[in-house]
Amino acid sequence: MKEQLEQLQVEALEEIKVASTQKALNDVRIKYLGKKGPMTEVLRGMGKLSAEERPVVGELANKVRASIQETLEARIEEVKAIELEAKLAAETIDVTLPGRTTFPGNSHLLQQIIDEMEDLFVGLGYTIAEGPEVETDLYNFEMLNLPKDHPARDMQDSFYITDETLLRTHTSPVQARTMLEANGQPIRIICPGKVYRRDEDDATHSHQFMQIEGLVVDESISMADLKGTLEVFVKQLFGESREIRLRPSFFPFTEPSVEVDISCFKCGGKGCNVCKGTGWIEILGGGMVHPHVLEMAGYDSTKMSGFAFGIGVERMAMLKHGVDDIRHFYTNDLRFIEQF
Ligand SMILES: [Zn+2]
Repeated sequence: MKEQLEQLQVEALEEIKVASTQKALNDVRIKYLGKKGPMTEVLRGMGKLSAEERPVVGELANKVRASIQETLEARIEEVKAIELEAKLAAETIDVTLPGRTTFPGNSHLLQQIIDEMEDLFVGLGYTIAEGPEVETDLYNFEMLNLPKDHPARDMQDSFYITDETLLRTHTSPVQARTMLEANGQPIRIICPGKVYRRDEDDATHSHQFMQIEGLVVDESISMADLKGTLEVFVKQLFGESREIRLRPSFFPFTEPSVEVDISCFKCGGKGCNVCKGTGWIEILGGGMVHPHVLEMAGYDSTKMSGFAFGIGVERMAMLKHGVDDIRHFYTNDLRFIEQF
């Protein structure tokens, strides 16, 4: 029996040595120390032994059991440590890998120009007015002194939806709507927004573009107010040293009407490719609100007068940043957009 126990010890310790997982070690424990294991088997046979042999074998059996138990526990600790190390190694993060960059967006150049204009004019006491892009013939044309069959309608080739509705060709219908709502009271507004004309798209034309229009109606408003306002705005957008000049022009809704030029910001007036050698750049149109337009909107044109002006936002952006093709604004090419 002694040999049997010693043999068991040798076998158990050998199996413990080679077991490399906690599960394998647990199997070894059940195999050698479990109720149905060989240890129990041996101890059960002790009844057949003599009185002298019994305590000797009993002592040995306890020693063997304790030895297996201790070795097993020590090996379990070892295996736990190895398993932990392997797990940590598998979950290691390589801090030298490049991170995932997020790209913050920014305002589109056209929006930046609109924001800048809005800031300026709100500072001058204006409010911002908006209106629908699908307009009626009434607001887009008739209220602005462009009755049906007026030849000046040809200046704005239009997208008609029905005979009486169209995509607005300018932001002026917002002016007409605001004047009607004002009910004879003074107005100071700017109206930024998209407008649509049936243009051939090329480097300087697009069938959809953006305008900002301004309108002031009050008692004794004169051309001097218009010129002063435009000077403030031009200096804000193109620099303090810019001059403006007004040239006579024609728009159906203003009388008198003017085209406004600014002194070339590139050559300072000497003449260059931007100003086509003239020293001046045409930048916007405006004038005194036609008395008939005021009357149609419910104003007494003998007491109230006003001025209006309209600017192309794309044209501003092209002039200010030397952009040579209007289509760059709409193609969403990041190489272009990220420059501003
Ligand atoms: Zn120039």
